Amino acid sequence: MADAPRGAVLQRDNETYAIIPKLKLGLIDAPTLRKLADVIEKYQIPVAKITGSMRLALVGMKAEDVEPIWNELGMEPAPAVGPCVRSVQACPGTAVCKMGKQDSLTLGLELDEKFSGKELPSKFKIGISGCPFCCAESYVRDLGFVGKAKGWTVVVGGFGSVKTRVADELAEGLDKDEAVKLAEKVLEVYSEQAKKGERLGRTIDRISFEQFKKLVLG
Ligand code: SF4
Repeated sequence: MADAPRGAVLQRDNETYAIIPKLKLGLIDAPTLRKLADVIEKYQIPVAKITGSMRLALVGMKAEDVEPIWNELGMEPAPAVGPCVRSVQACPGTAVCKMGKQDSLTLGLELDEKFSGKELPSKFKIGISGCPFCCAESYVRDLGFVGKAKGWTVVVGGFGSVKTRVADELAEGLDKDEAVKLAEKVLEVYSEQAKKGERLGRTIDRISFEQFKKLVLG
């Protein structure tokens, strides 16, 4: 079978492709929206869908259209497959939401810049919520952040699946820089401890949360 075109994933019809242009945290401006609308019309892309991870998937394009579409969009592909940091999602936080306790967009952009696409033992999702209402689903993400009046609470090992796992609370009361440093350490320990293909929550269950916490916090 021929290689898939750049940044494209073969669909279940075994014929057409999907792409996910990178939109950090789902933030989008007017020129980008226009470019997206133009390529959707021009190439008659049948499905444009905001995914559960706040990403935009363009689905159902012909193989030969993929590269021209990337060129016209002038955007990078988001990491869509493979064992890596797939998505960083964040709620609007204090930038917009009156319930916000912490600035989820600033933390999210820094985490996205540092970790998006980073190779890990399995797929890995990050969710940043500006308050305990958790609109960015922090407790069902491999690494989650919850803004509280005294700072960031960091949670680890959550995921939604056939058997959902709710994340464990690792630390609280952190400022932004402390939260980023802790995220680095979590990814480092996960890389060292996990078996190939093992989600972080499964690693924590295997070695115990107490042991994982000790390795991360020292
Ligand atoms: S998690 Fe809190 S701050 Fe973020 S959008 Fe929801 S209510 Fe607002």
